Order: sequence, then structure tokens, then C-alpha cells
Amino acid sequence: MTFDRSVKKKMTFENFLCGSYARDYIVQDTPYAAQIKEAVRRIREADYVMLGAGAGMSAAAGAEYGGSFFEENFAEFQKIYGKGPYMQDMYSAGFYPFPDEESRWGLWSHLALIAGADLDVTPLHRTLLDALKGKKLFLLSTNADHQFDKAGLPTEQIFATQGSYNLIQCQRGCHPKTYDAVERFREMELARKDGRIPTELVPKCPVCGGPMAMNLRCDNFFVEDENWHAAEDRFSRFLSECVNGKTVLLELGVGFNTPTIIRFPFEKLTREHENITLIRLSRSKAIVPASLGERAIGINADMAESISDIAAGLRETRALS
Ligand SMILES: [Zn+2]
Repeated sequence: MTFDRSVKKKMTFENFLCGSYARDYIVQDTPYAAQIKEAVRRIREADYVMLGAGAGMSAAAGAEYGGSFFEENFAEFQKIYGKGPYMQDMYSAGFYPFPDEESRWGLWSHLALIAGADLDVTPLHRTLLDALKGKKLFLLSTNADHQFDKAGLPTEQIFATQGSYNLIQCQRGCHPKTYDAVERFREMELARKDGRIPTELVPKCPVCGGPMAMNLRCDNFFVEDENWHAAEDRFSRFLSECVNGKTVLLELGVGFNTPTIIRFPFEKLTREHENITLIRLSRSKAIVPASLGERAIGINADMAESISDIAAGLRETRALS
């Protein structure tokens, strides 16, 4: 038996994750136009593109969570609970200490529909996907709002690690299943009165009889169901393949809330593989490790603009070839 050096360690989501902060972050001083041009060149030459999307992507595409948008869409709840620290935006509202399950699902069904099933900020997502046609593509996302799949990216190419606004689970995670609740949310939305839903619409765990919760990662009871694990497997396969090819990691609006899932791992992957380039788009957090040199492009700009400019550049080079 001979030892085959070409056999590489299989990469998994678990060993992809990374908690180490880069100590040499810089804001690149390359002019915007030159950065876009270089990003276009790198993507054009790549066989694989791994997208990493965070909340900044949805926001850049037009999703709103606070301000006047919240005031307009959650006035009913502000009237009941006041405008205190919770009732300011959709993230905080979900954490309100509701007096009962009827009230909790009254707000959550409304929120889940607005932030998930009924959200459509897909034009920017479509622009990006169109521009990347022909590339081997995979999306790693911490967003639960399904905007890339709505824009046409096949589910098989998506790993949304933090859950979904469409799914519910046992609050204690007593069994590894999730349930599509969109239709139930619509019933709740219609039946809600003074912020509360009728008791008969309150979901109960079919196994332990206890309360249900959104399938959004916020504590240790988050359920990783069969679909989650299947997506993780496909992600690992894509990862194991792309580290041996010409690859661009295209990071979209990832900040520092959960940097260990996309930001830090992308930096580590780029550091360890000379064939990988990191393109980081963010309105204000596109700092990149200096040690990555030319293999990192950090574009601090309005992301709707930078995505459109990169897409236009790719279309142009495609038209010329
Ligand atoms: Zn249960």
C-alpha cells in the first residue's frame, strides 16, 4: 500500500468555523473603481464562488427592521407594550417578556411574515446571481429570510445556519424536527385581536406537549433538523472541492455579531489557501487582514452600488468574450 499525499482531509462545517480575530485589520486605500475592477477580474477567473451573506445583505437590498418602518408595521404592539427598549425594531421586539403564549405568538406570527415569507427584496439578489451564472456557486448565510432562494438560487446550494422565519420547533428542542408554520402564521394574523391570538391557535409541541418556538438560533435549544444536516453535508462537499480550485469567497454584509460563522472562517480559509481570494463587501466594516495582501479586497461602500458595479463589470467582460 502506498501513501497517497493527494488525499486531503475532508473539510466540515465544524472545522471550518473559526473564533480567532485577525490582529492586522486595515482599511485598504485602493480607490473604489480599482477595487471593483480587481474584484471583477478575480471573479471572472474563478471556477468557484462561495457567497457568505449576513444581515447587511438584506439591509442593502432594502429590508427594514426599525425606524418608521417599525412604527408603521408594529403600531398595534407599541400601543399595548409601550415604546420602551423592546418595541423599537424587529430584533428587540421578539425578546419582549410577553405575559402569555397568545401574546407571544400574536407578535411573532406578524414579525415572521414580515421578515420572512412576505419579504421581497430580491432584485439585488437577482442582479448578483445573474452576474455569477456559470460559476460553481454555494451560499453560506446567517440570514433567516430566504431572499436568495426567492431570487432563484436552488435550495441545494444554500446553507442557512441560523434557521428560518418560516419554521417552528419545540422550545426545548425535545425532538430534532422543525415545522413549516407560514399557513399557521397567516391564520394567527387574521385572528389576532389586541395583540393576542385565540388560544386554539397557540402551537404545542406534538411530542412533549410543551410550548413551541421559532426555529431561529438564539439559545442552546436550536433544532438542527434533517434538512439542516443535509445542507451542512452539501456545504462540506462544496468546501472540500473549492479549496482545491480557483475560488472567490464573496462576503456580503457580514459584521461582527456572529463573526465566527462567516467572517473569521473566510479569513482563515484565504490565509491557508493561495488559490483563494476574499472579496468583502460592507457599508462600513470591510476591513481586511493586511497579511492577506492582494488576495483580500475590502470594499467599504453602499453595497447595492458595489454589487451592481461588480455585476455590470462581469456582464461587460462576458459581452466582450
Ligand atoms: Zn417538545
